[in-house]
Amino acid sequence: YRICLMDLRNGFDIRRHIRTIHDYPKPGITFRDITTLLANKHAFRAAVDELMWPFLSAGVDYVVGIEARGFILGGAIAHELGLGFLPIRKKGKLPGKVIGRDYQLEYGIDTIEIHADAISKGDKILLIDDLIATGGTAEAAIDLIQDSGGDVVAAAFVVSLPDLGGAQKLIDKNVKVHRLVDYAGD
Ligand code: AMP
Repeated sequence: YRICLMDLRNGFDIRRHIRTIHDYPKPGITFRDITTLLANKHAFRAAVDELMWPFLSAGVDYVVGIEARGFILGGAIAHELGLGFLPIRKKGKLPGKVIGRDYQLEYGIDTIEIHADAISKGDKILLIDDLIATGGTAEAAIDLIQDSGGDVVAAAFVVSLPDLGGAQKLIDKNVKVHRLVDYAGD
């Protein structure tokens, strides 16, 4: 019987569990696939723990996750923090009254929505997605949260692609960005 000790501060190698798939979903895109990380019980827990620990005492009211991979991580993080979870979804998926935002993706244009009554004025929000590339998705999500009266405590991602400038874009908007793995230079 062997206990697996994950000393998070001494660097469980989350990066090793992220799979790279070239030319998906389009030629020239290097896709960072976290399904391999989610499938590994140690890597999944390490990623969730690393994403949430700075916010254990941050007074967060809700975790907001972005469809679809932000739901998996955000749901686990909300549960671990003892908080409720609010979904931001692609256009037309939420049943209630919504507010929406168009945004530019690394590989296309899309619209995201949140329930208009999900966030109350002054609610402190932790925003979660798997990856930040150009920051277009996260920026639209932040706009939705702020338009709803929410206060973004931070945005947290497993992966950041610094060459695409997304994390810096958020920092320039005075949003704290927490990310676990950077892929620079490609
Ligand atoms: P962006 O709006 O450019 O920051 O893109 C972030 C969103 O698109 C996230 O929800 C990611 O899941 C997805 N995404 C963008 N680029 C990639 C990539 N290279 N690998 C995996 N997912 C990506």
